[in-house]
Amino acid sequence: MNTPLIEISVVIPMKNEARHLHHTIKTIAGFIAQSTPSYELIVIDDGSEDETWKELLTLRFAIPQLEGIRLSRNFGKERAICSGLEHARGQAVIIMDGDLQHPPELISQMIDAWRSRSVKIVECVKRTRTKEPFSYKLGTRLFYGILHKFTRYDLHGASDFKLLDRQVVEAWLTLPERITFFRGMTAWLGFSRLQIEFDVPPRIEGRTQWQSAMLFKLALSAVVSFTSWPLRFVTFVGVFSFVGAIILGIQTLYMKLAGVASTGFTTVILLLLGMNSIIMLSLGIIGEYIAAIYDEVKSRPRYLISENTMVDHNK
Ligand code: UDP
Ligand code: MG
Repeated sequence: MNTPLIEISVVIPMKNEARHLHHTIKTIAGFIAQSTPSYELIVIDDGSEDETWKELLTLRFAIPQLEGIRLSRNFGKERAICSGLEHARGQAVIIMDGDLQHPPELISQMIDAWRSRSVKIVECVKRTRTKEPFSYKLGTRLFYGILHKFTRYDLHGASDFKLLDRQVVEAWLTLPERITFFRGMTAWLGFSRLQIEFDVPPRIEGRTQWQSAMLFKLALSAVVSFTSWPLRFVTFVGVFSFVGAIILGIQTLYMKLAGVASTGFTTVILLLLGMNSIIMLSLGIIGEYIAAIYDEVKSRPRYLISENTMVDHNK
């Protein structure tokens, strides 16, 4: 591969951010220009229903370093990031949100750390969270807690705001899975890294695009792709209830033979309820893994592009 001529690529996934796109991109461009003259900004329009793409094309007249990739529909932030990483040409790639919740002031610090060549990944870690609902905070704590307990990865406070060296990007792109979890996958990659803490400012405008159902789906796919522990748990529950069944069976038989068999309705009902729920839960967990395998086996592309400003001068 030729040495890239661009020093820094900034990948920004955006969905329905038209109203403040100019301000956001100009702010980011202003900060990055302080660190390097050689950069590109790649905005991934992740199936926006507003004027995001139009605003982007207009802004390209003012900022020639701005590029846009328009996905054919909403594929989700994870896949938008994938397309950005695949198209970025810089020696290092910064990934950040398009709502200024990832403070662009940190860009120069990230680039300095990378330039000193001591680190391949610079990751920004959330020190505080903005005013999020209590249930959300509890959910993320629980999720990261469970993930940390059963895998080697401690993702507390982790964000997608990262700088990756070209070597790391190339390594990331060799990971073949369709269902990606960017934060977890960069942790899996290894490489030397530095963490910078930051406070999450409130969203510039609009509101978070994540609904509880989507977060739950992301959490689930993260667990499924990072640990097969739930499957082992199912086996464990199976063995445990099998032993219990044997003990209870012996006891029942003994009572029957001794002629003291009681009318144990409660026991029967409790057992039925208990066993059924365990079976359903186990089937559900297995189903999740099968669904993930199915998705991977289909080998569909992670995303599809409808328009791309980079093709003109890329090839
Ligand atoms: N985003 C995206 N596709 C989606 C949802 C969100 O590209 O389906 C973008 C969004 O435009 C923003 C970033 O991902 O730039 C983070 O989204 P958001 O601010 O809604 O999430 P939060 O900050 O609450 O985690
Ligand atoms: Mg946000």
